[in-house]
Amino acid sequence: MTISQQRISTCRVCGHGGFVPVILLPGMPFTDQFVPKERIGTEFLADIEIVACKACASVQNIHDTDMSDYYRAYTYSVQSSGFARGFMKALALAVKQRFLSHIAHPVVLEIGSGTGEQLQDFRRLGCRVVGVEPSRKLAEHANAQGIKTIEGFFDGSVCGRAALGEESFDAIVTSYTFDHLPNPGAVLRGMHAMLSTSGVLVIEVHDLDLICRRDEYCLFEHEHYTYLNEGTMTSLLRRYGFAVETFTLLDESVKRGNSLLVVARKCSVAAGENAAVNVSEELAALGSLGRSVAEGIARLDEWLTLHQGKRIVAYGAGGRGVMTIAALENHAILSAMVDKNPKGAGLYSPKSHLEVFGIDELGRQRADLVLVFSYGYFPEIVAEVQERFGYQAGECVSMLDVLSGTVE
Ligand SMILES: [Zn+2]
Repeated sequence: MTISQQRISTCRVCGHGGFVPVILLPGMPFTDQFVPKERIGTEFLADIEIVACKACASVQNIHDTDMSDYYRAYTYSVQSSGFARGFMKALALAVKQRFLSHIAHPVVLEIGSGTGEQLQDFRRLGCRVVGVEPSRKLAEHANAQGIKTIEGFFDGSVCGRAALGEESFDAIVTSYTFDHLPNPGAVLRGMHAMLSTSGVLVIEVHDLDLICRRDEYCLFEHEHYTYLNEGTMTSLLRRYGFAVETFTLLDESVKRGNSLLVVARKCSVAAGENAAVNVSEELAALGSLGRSVAEGIARLDEWLTLHQGKRIVAYGAGGRGVMTIAALENHAILSAMVDKNPKGAGLYSPKSHLEVFGIDELGRQRADLVLVFSYGYFPEIVAEVQERFGYQAGECVSMLDVLSGTVE
């Protein structure tokens, strides 16, 4: 896999030059590049450098990383969790009822459509659907399920109307893909052209404000180019001719952690430079983010030092665990990683090189402490580890509590 990187010189959102530094995470891996023992040390590592635009305050990755090979080979779990399925159903229903109910057979396009599960929900509600997905495996799976899916990147090259087979779309939906786009403006221009008059755009990304509230630096990834909040998202959409309809389409309880879900309607004329944020206020707030991330990393490192000599096992080999651990100086104090669905046997986490096991490992070899990275499920995880392997509640520690300094 060849990976090349280039620094950008102008803002991904507004095109102006000039950045202020926000966060620097040295020598970081991809979230997903687990390696077998014989390939340890061959994984991609590079600095993650997050900056903010002086002109529009949009937070972004300073590097373009050519990840086309990485995405093409991407085969993340084919089966979504019950929670994710519930979200998709609720999203399809809410979009259909609130924005498409006046159209007999609305046409819905999804960018980054994966295995087509979200589009299945729209189809069940009477929509015609098309997906675009860069991973060949996932696109093949979707097509086999009867969800028309074009294999490729939504960057203009793949997405002529002819390829998609529709004149225009009544809704374009994209969940946790928009922040992977190096040039969001160009993509929005394309979406604007493809939407029907007063068609809607539904975008879900990580909410920068929520990332900041919890100092979740693990969400700053090579794979993520932009980090938006309500203000910068509103500005970006306005710039390309969309008016925000709502940020509260779904209740918080239905959405995944850190979700920023926006619905915007296509307008005839772009509002241009009409910003929705106070740039100097945004930039001042970002100044403290860099400091508090560094403090969070230091607290995790101190906690590990404090418990050095014990067998400490990390629970959760998702992006959160991989990236949080990769940024730590003392990651070698950890003994192993466990996950409910490990990617395969005999794999090691990128950079930190922890062997990844199924959770049965907690029974085979007793840990003194279980550091839980999938903290959203902390109570369930503690209950299961107690019940199945006889651990005490105090032997499980939430990463979030260590990060915020509320646990010794
Ligand atoms: Zn900008």
